[in-house]
Amino acid sequence: MIDKGEQTEVGTVNSLEHYPTGGSVRCKCGRTGCFEVTASDHALVARAVDIGLIDAPRMRLLQAKAAAGDAQATRMFVERAEVLGRVAAGVRDMTGPDRTVLVGQAFTGFPAALTDVIASFERSSSMPPGSVSVTRFGDDIQAVAACALAVGPVYDDPVGLVTAWEATG
Ligand SMILES: [Zn+2]
Repeated sequence: MIDKGEQTEVGTVNSLEHYPTGGSVRCKCGRTGCFEVTASDHALVARAVDIGLIDAPRMRLLQAKAAAGDAQATRMFVERAEVLGRVAAGVRDMTGPDRTVLVGQAFTGFPAALTDVIASFERSSSMPPGSVSVTRFGDDIQAVAACALAVGPVYDDPVGLVTAWEATG
């Protein structure tokens, strides 16, 4: 990490699995409130099953409940939206990217909570309102991400690939 005054250059960012959220759910690491046990799809549906809201740990079941107007399911998504926005704002403020685009099913899987995510982000970030956007790929982001990985070598070293390809022909 290189501190440049206005910005800090970060070469590698670790997983957000154990990023502290201030929550009370115990994590396998021994602490409470880690991001994964608080806001992941897995954690959310597990809690919904525990309280009898849904019969099986499937996100689409919980989403359907909320979409049908179930107050408890909706509250779970709204509470998660608050955490997602706060964590995204913390990461944004630490890394200072040129643009902030939220991606992933946690943001796009229940669109009704998106305004709560944005509001939480804007309350928690030092950036002015309107500085965060949400991916236009929606739930297709996984397929797009896979393609990005597949074409990664081309962007990393296009000349090297041509040379290697010519060597095989
Ligand atoms: Zn943890």
